Order: sequence, then C-alpha cells, then structure tokens
Amino acid sequence: MPDNRIENIVIVGGGTAGWMAAAGFSQYFRNLPVNITLIESSDIGTVGVGEATIPTILDFTRELGIDDFELMRATQATCKLGIEFKDWYKIGSSFFHPFGLYGQEVRSVPFHHYWLKSRQSGSQLDISEYSLPCVLADLGRMERPSPTPQSQLDVYDWALHFDATLFAGFMREYAEHRGVHRIDQKIIDVELRPEDGFIQALRLENGERVAGDFFIDCSGFRALLIEGALNTGYENWSHWLPCDSAAAVICEGTENPTPYTQATARKAGWQWRIPLQHRIGNGHVYSSPYISDDEATSILLNNIEGKPLTDPRILKFTTGRRKKFWNKNCVALGLAAGFMEPLESTSIAVINTAIENLRKLFPDKSFNQSCADEFNRRTTLEFEQIRDFLILHYNATQRDDSPFWNDIRTMDIPESLNYKLKIYRARGLLVKDHWETFHEPSWLAILCGHHIYPDTFDPVVDFYDNDNLERSLDRIRTAIRKTAESAPKHGEFITRHCAINRC
Ligand SMILES: Cc1cc2nc3c(=O)[nH]c(=O)nc-3n(C[C@H](O)[C@H](O)[C@H](O)COP(=O)(O)OP(=O)(O)OC[C@H]3O[C@@H](n4cnc5c(N)ncnc54)[C@H](O)[C@@H]3O)c2cc1C
Repeated sequence: MPDNRIENIVIVGGGTAGWMAAAGFSQYFRNLPVNITLIESSDIGTVGVGEATIPTILDFTRELGIDDFELMRATQATCKLGIEFKDWYKIGSSFFHPFGLYGQEVRSVPFHHYWLKSRQSGSQLDISEYSLPCVLADLGRMERPSPTPQSQLDVYDWALHFDATLFAGFMREYAEHRGVHRIDQKIIDVELRPEDGFIQALRLENGERVAGDFFIDCSGFRALLIEGALNTGYENWSHWLPCDSAAAVICEGTENPTPYTQATARKAGWQWRIPLQHRIGNGHVYSSPYISDDEATSILLNNIEGKPLTDPRILKFTTGRRKKFWNKNCVALGLAAGFMEPLESTSIAVINTAIENLRKLFPDKSFNQSCADEFNRRTTLEFEQIRDFLILHYNATQRDDSPFWNDIRTMDIPESLNYKLKIYRARGLLVKDHWETFHEPSWLAILCGHHIYPDTFDPVVDFYDNDNLERSLDRIRTAIRKTAESAPKHGEFITRHCAINRC
C-alpha cells in the first residue's frame, strides 16, 4: 500500500481565516507527524474588520479548550445577545434579532402560533417580550445562559464582539504554541503539477520554495490560489445583494457597552455599531451605484457617538461565492471563499463550519473527488441559505424613501426564499433545511420585525380560549422579565468576569 497520508499542509494568509484554520488543524493533528506551515505577508496585511460574531464562535474556541473569559480578556471583547435593527421596516421602526427561542412550545406547536392568536384577538404585545435575550438586551443586562435550563424560556445563546486583530493574534499564539510554522513573506508565484494542475509549491519573494500536499487558501479577497492559480470562477450575487462597499471607522467607547450589535438602515445601505471594551467599531455598508464614497463616509461620521480614533477606510467587495470551495488540492476559507455583507455577522461563522467540515472530510493524497464534492455541497448550501436570509432583510422592507430601497424592495428574489415565504404566509410554518446557520426563531425575528405575519396559525391553537391563553402569555412575560431584571448590567458583567487590567 502506498503511504497516502497528507504530511504537509500549507495555509496561505494570516488573517482571521488563516489563523483559525491553523489553530483548528494544529489541535486536530496534535502529536501527529503533520507539518502545518502558514505564510502571510505583513507588507500586505489583513482586512482588519470582522468584529461581530454569532454563537458558533464560542463552540469553536471551546473545542480548542479556550475559556470564554480568557478569550474575552485577550480580545477586549463584549457580549452579544443579538442584533438591533433600526429603520429597516420603516424609518423610526426597530426590532431585535435574538440568539434564542421565543416563549415555549405547547403540544409541539411553536410558541409564535399562540402569540399570533393573541395578536389576532387584539393584543399589541411584541413577540420580543417573550424572549429572554431580547429583554436582557433591552435592559442592557447580561448573564450567561444556564447550562441546565429549567424550561424553554431560559434557552438562549450568546456571541462576542471582539477586536479582529487581537483575535487573529490570539489564534496565532495558540497555533504557534502547537507547532505551526509561520513564514512572513510575500508569495510571488504558484507552481502547478504539469500532469494534473494540482498545486505543488509556492515561490516566495526571498527566493524560497515551499512545497505542500494540501493547500488552504486564506489569502482574503485576493484568492491567490483558488482563483489566481486554479481559475475556479466566482458566482456573483450583486443583483440580489447590491451593497458593494463599506466605510469603516473606530471611535471612542462608552462605559456601559450595549450587549448587542446595532444595524441601522440608511438611504443606500446600513450602518453597523459594534461596541468593544475599549472602543466602538462603526461601518457604513452601501451600494456604490446609489451613493458616492464621500457621501457614505460623511453619513458614517455624522452618526458615530464618540471621537473618531482612526481615519475612515473604504473597502470594496463583490458579493457571491467561489464556484467550488475545494478545487483539486486546495480549499478556500474566509474571504477567498466568498463574501456576503456583514449584516448578520456570518463570515467568521462560515469559516468555523468550513474547518469543521474539512476535518470530517479530510483527504489523503489520493484526493478522492467525493470528499471535495461533499464539502462543496455543504458549503454551497450554507452560503445560499445565508444569502436568502440576508435578502429577506432588504426585500421585506416598506421603505420607499430612496431609489435604493425602491429597487431592492421590488426585486426578484431567489426561488428558495420565495418558497419559504409562501409556506410561512400560508400557515406560519418556518421551513428549516439541513446546514442552515439561522434557525426558525431567527427567521421569525426578521419576519415579525418587518410586520410580515401568516394568514393563519396552527389549528390546535384555536382550541385554547382567549382568557386562558392571555393568562399563560402573561405568566411567560412576567417570568422572563423577572429573570432578566436579576441579571447584572453588561458593564458589570464584563468587569466581574473579564475586563482588562481589572481582574
Ligand atoms: C466591511 C467588512 C465588515 C466585516 N464584518 C464582519 C463581521 O462583523 N463579522 C464577521 O464574521 N465577518 C465580518 N467580515 C468578514 C471578516 O472580516 C473576514 O471573514 C475575516 O476577517 C477573514 O478574513 P480573511 O482571513 O479571509 O482575509 P484577510 O484578513 O484579508 O487576510 C488575508 C491574508 O492573506 C495574506 N496574503 C494575501 N496575499 C498574499 C501574498 N501574495 N503573499 C503572502 N500572504 C498574502 C495577507 O497578508 C493576510 O494575512 C467583514 C468583512 C468586511 C469586508
């Protein structure tokens, strides 16, 4: 039997994707004779944004054996219970997308059907009143979810806002400690095997040649290997998600950071606000055919709270995905794989999943095509489902105050999204597919936030009389509020557990 084991993995790029991959694989292959080399160029640098996450980030770091609070201290992180969306449905409106459940199922019927009946009977109470993370966020409070929840009312999750550069540095320290070899050099050429076009080595600016069996392209928007060398192709989704630019600036922070991200719709895009322990990250994501870079930057600077600590930076991108994420002996992760705007903070989460899938499908030197096909199938589904979820945020709007909103509100949407909306409207059913990053409550948050309600609810709910139903809803609301009110303020939570120089 030939020895087909992969012995040399080469990671290209030392941004968040590269160092997450290095950390993940150094742990996976610990004590095994597998060499991992990471090449990055400090002359080129990293994208330097990407500071809001979703809860899977903590699954990733916990699997590496990293304590949540140690990570928070190292990255000056704050907690994130979800995202507040302002001015999306209409100017002046606001809703919250929490990481958690709404209410409690009864007879296996999801809570929102009961809430819909109450609403149809005249109740004005928002569905967020029945979600613990929504109420915690509203009160500016934070507590970690109980590992042994007493009921569905206590089930929620949390994520982090962190400093992207510190996070990559933290992952680097972890990986280097486990033997990952780092080379700080610019790659100037990629050598392909003449017989099959597989990558065999990289040529560096200092004349060095780095050979490998398996290459992970984390070179950011440059996509040095997957596109530059292998010409894999890119599926452009700008017709559905037309934002193609972002202006980003950091400003002074506040004493009591909000435990959530804010996304405020603007006339040709939206603005993020991500509070860290020591500062606030701000950015305006916009569509360049509808607004100039100068105007977008000025809107951003007019809508930040503290003194700017940096000059604004403009970033350009094309929304979409690589036609294949795994091509020959190369897998693309991070921005090299594709990009969707950070409206739901999904890019780092997609890196997590890709590392997890790659572990499960890790090849040997025969590079069985089935492994690549399955990896590509899973990643494509994940990208498409996130794409549909993002499109919903725009397409559900009632805004008609600018050409951008008029065009995006009336555009054609993917059939996969149309299908989900049809079933939801008809019966209140939220269709969830395998590999979906966002579960039913997330879809519900965006739909209800845009005042899109089903025509009917589950017929079982009609067997409950209104008085009983209202009493139960009232009990749920009271219990949630009581729990939320007993939690510390977010600032206190950070000071208690993880503030820098304070613990
Ligand atoms: C505006 C904006 C906002 C974002 N916000 C979020 C967010 O809130 N949440 C989230 O999850 N994600 C967000 N993202 C995405 C997130 O920033 C990225 O997914 C993440 O940082 C990973 O980037 P990367 O490592 O793929 O690329 P980069 O950070 O660009 O790293 C690329 C690496 O490749 C190296 N490289 C490139 N060419 C060469 C060469 N020739 N030789 C040697 N090395 C080379 C560079 O030196 C660098 O180390 C955002 C992205 C943008 C554009």
